[in-house]
Amino acid sequence: MKLKWFKVVLLSLVLSATVVWPVMGAPTGERGSPEVVSINSETCIDPVIGTSQSPIDLVAPLTAIPSNKEIQSIFYPAFLPKITNKGGHEISVIDNPSFPASGSKITINSVDYKLTEFHFHTKSEHHLNGTEYPMEIHIKHQSTSGQNVVIGVFVESVTGPADVNETLTALLDTIPVSNASVTPSSSIDLNLLLPDANSRSYYHYDGSLTTCPFTEGIKWYVFHTPIKILNTDLAKYNANFAHNDRNTKPLNGRTIYVK
Ligand SMILES: [Zn+2]
Repeated sequence: MKLKWFKVVLLSLVLSATVVWPVMGAPTGERGSPEVVSINSETCIDPVIGTSQSPIDLVAPLTAIPSNKEIQSIFYPAFLPKITNKGGHEISVIDNPSFPASGSKITINSVDYKLTEFHFHTKSEHHLNGTEYPMEIHIKHQSTSGQNVVIGVFVESVTGPADVNETLTALLDTIPVSNASVTPSSSIDLNLLLPDANSRSYYHYDGSLTTCPFTEGIKWYVFHTPIKILNTDLAKYNANFAHNDRNTKPLNGRTIYVK
């Protein structure tokens, strides 16, 4: 219900303002963590440190997800970001400090996991039945007890403008290609970086960070349906930012759940 309500608000905001992104206005909601977008450029050696590493190829056999592992709700109020290129390929976007933090969170089994950052990988890190997509978005969350949950969204390259994700296109366009910070004139709505509400089947498994230090115990939720980017916009992004995807790792008997 929260998502539906929020979309109505978003629409009215879009219609009432000249925007770069489809949402305007100061973020609302409870106080919470800052939101960060980062493109991780760390170049540490990829060690074999465990048997539950990420990413993986999402393939059968699949197990129906029990209700206590399902995503109960996604609460992503808009927030005004500050986007910083720290050099190399490391990008960060945080809540504009002149506004309250947005309080974005997801809830699983009645536990809240607050948004901590999101970032991009090219190509995709997870594969889907052996298919590698050209990009994957990782939206990271953490509970008060320190449990990490990451939502993955595949990005598919298309040749025509139909159903292209304008929020993603605008966001990528706003990232400075050299060391600089920018504060866009409009807020970002992470709901619009997810697949449509009626296409939100997802996979869930227990894995790891895909960048240093490859910590295990990460709960992954990867949406089945990709969002779309125009191939020319993807090429522009790839011209500015090097690929940063980790190879898929063995499943080692882990269960892949499906919703
Ligand atoms: Zn990632």
